Amino acid sequence: MTIYTDKRLLRTGLIGGTFSRHSGNMREVACQNAALAELGVQTEHILHFHQTHSDTLLSISSAQAAQAVLAAPLQDADAWVFSPCISGWGAAIVTADCVPVFLWDDTGSYAALAHCGWRGVVKGLAQKAAQALLTQNPHLRLNAWLGPHIQACCFEVQEDVAAQFPANCVLRKKDKIYVDLNIEIKRQLTQAGVAAEKIQTPYYCTCGDKENFFSWRRDHEKNMLLSFLYKP
Ligand SMILES: [Zn+2]
Repeated sequence: MTIYTDKRLLRTGLIGGTFSRHSGNMREVACQNAALAELGVQTEHILHFHQTHSDTLLSISSAQAAQAVLAAPLQDADAWVFSPCISGWGAAIVTADCVPVFLWDDTGSYAALAHCGWRGVVKGLAQKAAQALLTQNPHLRLNAWLGPHIQACCFEVQEDVAAQFPANCVLRKKDKIYVDLNIEIKRQLTQAGVAAEKIQTPYYCTCGDKENFFSWRRDHEKNMLLSFLYKP
């Protein structure tokens, strides 16, 4: 089992990260549960939503609120905000090129997990997730980590998409156009109040690394990677 994660997150006592493709197609919840159970996660306490490339956040602040999410039909949303985190509860998202954005404070008391495709990035989802945490507690020292996603080496776009990003995210090589989602997410997070040095954007390209990742852009198959966040 390979999980891409950030040591700073684990040091707080939270667990989380993104599984490599070797753990299977995480579109299947049974596959998610098998992988998470190996880590000691209470899989019946992992929250899911229906991902729609929106800027909708779901905020959870108590076990009762989490139970209510479990009891209700899946909601449309793209980010979980735990303010505060609840012991024995967590959330999962699936991606195959989109950016899993992890946010947490230095004490592991507050956290968020967002599914940011390029549309979510354009809508400012990462910024909104950070703002939601800082609204709950303005003194939080937030950390951010971006999980494996399509990097600028492979994220070729047309002019219509490029036009929706600030110029410094757009790379033009010969007659091709590429977008660097890391630059824009980092800008949004710093705008929200996350210190630049606390934002990590490791270069794992889902599209370029077929050995380790699924990629919609590369394969056009409905295989997904799992990202999760959990407080033991
Ligand atoms: Zn690439």
